[in-house]
Amino acid sequence: MFSRITSLFNIKYPIIQAGMVWVSGYKLASAVSNAGGLGLIGAGSMYPDVLKYHLQQCKKATNRPFGVNIPLFYPDLEEVIEIIFQEKIKIVFTSAGNPKLYTQRFKEEGITVVQVVSSVKFAQKSEEAGVDAIVAEGFEAGGHNGREESTTFTLIPMVKEKINIPLIAAGGIATGSGMMAAMALGAEGVQIGSRFVASVESSAHQNFKNMVVETKDGGTDLTLKELTPVRLIKNEFYQNVQKLYQAGASVEELKNLLGRARAKKGMFEGDLVEGELEIGQVAGLIHNIKPAADIVKEIIDEFEIVRKNISNLSSFSI
Ligand code: NDP
Repeated sequence: MFSRITSLFNIKYPIIQAGMVWVSGYKLASAVSNAGGLGLIGAGSMYPDVLKYHLQQCKKATNRPFGVNIPLFYPDLEEVIEIIFQEKIKIVFTSAGNPKLYTQRFKEEGITVVQVVSSVKFAQKSEEAGVDAIVAEGFEAGGHNGREESTTFTLIPMVKEKINIPLIAAGGIATGSGMMAAMALGAEGVQIGSRFVASVESSAHQNFKNMVVETKDGGTDLTLKELTPVRLIKNEFYQNVQKLYQAGASVEELKNLLGRARAKKGMFEGDLVEGELEIGQVAGLIHNIKPAADIVKEIIDEFEIVRKNISNLSSFSI
């Protein structure tokens, strides 16, 4: 399977596993890379020494390319960047910040840089900043999300119209048919998060993985927009946020309820009541927990079936 994305990263399939907080350490990233996709280590939930450990272990666990995702409002950013240079990491995905700040520094070190965006405006800004590719992430996605609320179905073609560099679609994609749809809209690769949460190698707590499998359509909501918009499972913590909204809470009161390390509590420690459980709308299509390699294979197999079915469609021309 060839696209500008497979050649940019030197991978077999244009499937990128999203770098997710508390979920994507070296075990998941190396499993996805070994299966022919691109695994990403999620630096957002790692202190610098933890990140260094995961980068070193990932190098031992795979000979294939892998990368790291860095949220640009991470507190120890300079230290993290130094580690990335020291460990000679060659692929960096940046998100949640201005791509102008670090892209050229990464490029000078021979690093391929990809920026995650949720709007056309930021896609254009990222291209101007010199990134090599864009991930455009729609409203369906789990975790932190854009304020624009553009769905993947609308965002991908709108971004495609305005940029020339390769485009990776994200948000709501977990299957081969989803991947085909994203590519029909103009993407050359897909970034998949939620499906890999429910993988054997993900570092998410077993309780959270089971909850993802149980989540149906309508089971998540994009909330806390006054702080950082985040898509969550509608558990008790989420219901408590809603009660505060109904009572006309201030931003300060929302911050106090959120407190610190809720995402860790929910996704890593498995507290399904008090924790923040970040997952995408596509959880409704995730029915089991499997090894990452089986997930990649299932997506590719389905993609091929859909491709054949589409080529069998009769033509609409008279
Ligand atoms: P909080 O402020 O609530 O808590 C900080 C959490 O991050 C703690 O659990 C802490 O672990 C952990 N952590 C990891 N590295 C550091 C560090 N260098 N300094 C301080 N804490 C660190 O933040 P959140 O849990 O909401 O978010 C943490 C990070 O994850 C942020 O960088 C954020 O951008 C990113 N994030 C990204 C998301 C996405 O979808 N892209 C979604 C959610 C978060 P400990 O408890 O062990 O101290």
